[in-house]
Amino acid sequence: SFPTRRSSDLARSSLEAELRRAISRGEFILHYQPQVAADGRLTGVEALLRWRHPERGLVAPNVFIALAEETGLIIPIGEQVLRQACEQLRIWSTRADSAHLSVSVNVSARQFRHPAFIDNIEATLNEMGIGAGGMMLEITESLLLENVDEVVAKMKRLKARGLRFSIDDFGTGYSSLSYLKRLPLDELKIDRSFVADIEHDDNAAAICAAFIGLANILGLHVVAEGVETEVQHHLLSWVHRCQTLQGFRFGQPMPAAGIDALLRGGARPPA
Ligand code: C2E
Ligand code: MG
Ligand code: MG
Repeated sequence: SFPTRRSSDLARSSLEAELRRAISRGEFILHYQPQVAADGRLTGVEALLRWRHPERGLVAPNVFIALAEETGLIIPIGEQVLRQACEQLRIWSTRADSAHLSVSVNVSARQFRHPAFIDNIEATLNEMGIGAGGMMLEITESLLLENVDEVVAKMKRLKARGLRFSIDDFGTGYSSLSYLKRLPLDELKIDRSFVADIEHDDNAAAICAAFIGLANILGLHVVAEGVETEVQHHLLSWVHRCQTLQGFRFGQPMPAAGIDALLRGGARPPA
């Protein structure tokens, strides 16, 4: 298996070298995971990074994102992610059955703080000739550890261009409510650790209900992550009134062609 953060410098540097090669060879691809309304209708997708490694097959992001962040390689990787997501959004936006889909893209704190981040996004959108209407950027609470004013200013510039923002893994970080109020957010994603316990743990259920209430008060769209079971689906949709759900119950992350099959009704997610 791959070296981890705790492995020797040698193992780290070989993974780093492999990442550099992967960037130049175009081995990073996106899979897309369905996001559905309470009735199971597909409303959007989250783009999730995969490394199509020549020997090891499909490698999940938890293996390499941390090192990519430390080394700064997340910058070129993130550019490739945004470019691919924009290309896919352009394809979907031209078809009647998929024009309504939103595409969410994960952006790490280091990427967001990079001075060229806004210019790169704008250049990509201009080059593709698309608006940013269907694009949602997922950020995390770690972004709020320093210089919130600068973060807010950057978000506002991107929002003026039509991009929307989601706060990912909500509830696992610092969750400062005063920051939450200051950020020009559009969406809140409840972390899957709360969803996982919702059936059996009254506290988890209360926390989910509170997050959904908070989102409603702040005027934010709310997504529950990691929905795996029918009971979780039922509780979140019909008891707690969570607008959007994402999780294995509705589909694993899959290539864009899999999303197209869902749209054709070949394999409708369960209602
Ligand atoms: P995330 O943004 O919170 O993404 C959700 C993760 O939960 C995904 O793992 C997804 O496959 C997994 N998941 C979805 N539904 C379920 C479920 O029902 N049960 C369980 N147990 N898990 C579920 P994945 O694809 O391995 O991504 C892990 C993390 O890697 C993401 O967490 C995100 O933080 C990061 N990541 C992924 N793609 C990118 C990217 O393009 N750029 C950056 N910077 N980070 C990325
Ligand atoms: Mg995410
Ligand atoms: Mg998440």
